[in-house]
Amino acid sequence: MDRRNFFGTSAAAAATGLAGCAVAGPGGAAPRTPFAVPATYIPVVGSDEMFPVRRIYCIGRNYRAHSIEMGSNPDREPPFFFQKPTDAIQFVALGTTPDHPYPPLTKNYHYEAELVAAIGKAGRNIPVASALDHVWGYTLGLDMTRRDLQRAMGDEKKPWEIGKSFDRSAPIGALHRVGQIGHFTDGAIWLKVNGQIKQNANLNQMIWSVAEQISNLSAAFELFPGDIIYSGTPENVGPVVKGDVIEMHIDKLPNLSVKIV
Ligand code: MN
Repeated sequence: MDRRNFFGTSAAAAATGLAGCAVAGPGGAAPRTPFAVPATYIPVVGSDEMFPVRRIYCIGRNYRAHSIEMGSNPDREPPFFFQKPTDAIQFVALGTTPDHPYPPLTKNYHYEAELVAAIGKAGRNIPVASALDHVWGYTLGLDMTRRDLQRAMGDEKKPWEIGKSFDRSAPIGALHRVGQIGHFTDGAIWLKVNGQIKQNANLNQMIWSVAEQISNLSAAFELFPGDIIYSGTPENVGPVVKGDVIEMHIDKLPNLSVKIV
């Protein structure tokens, strides 16, 4: 299933009252627009509600061994974040293996398996102790990366966008509410390509926990409902080619699969 099935209109976006957007507020009339711009939603397990996506944040180098394989020193580095555009989301329905197009311009297309936390309560300068109160739900996702372009831009001290923030670079599963699934502080996270294990780690190996990520992020950006946070990938990232099937797993969540075409 493709995220395009979940496109709304500008009127729908206005009705959800997305914070910070220049649209009519709750109860106000939606503005007249010359064309509709799609909004992005993630389905919620066990509900006909959809989670409206405001921003996608991603933490970099959040597992020691992955930080080292990327050439960094995990002991000295404060957390850092980047964003993907909301329409980078490719929704992956339960039990399906949708096609995921190999993107243009790259010859080294990498998977990164990650836990994703969805924010349901606004805040800034959120203390670590109360940070998890801001989480609405969780799912799992892939931070797909054009590694060659990411590295080339990094080498030239240019922005990463082209390596990280491109079309469909964020395959993601349906959201599970915290009330149903609880929080994630440990548990297996693994990723297979064509049935062969590639990444295999535990969520308790994160350098910065989800609570610490929310606290840090909220010092730099005011968080709002609809924000989602990709919480970083373990070591052994690697390439895929057309025809490969990626399957990823996090304990307590249903597996997510895509086929590279
Ligand atoms: Mn990542």
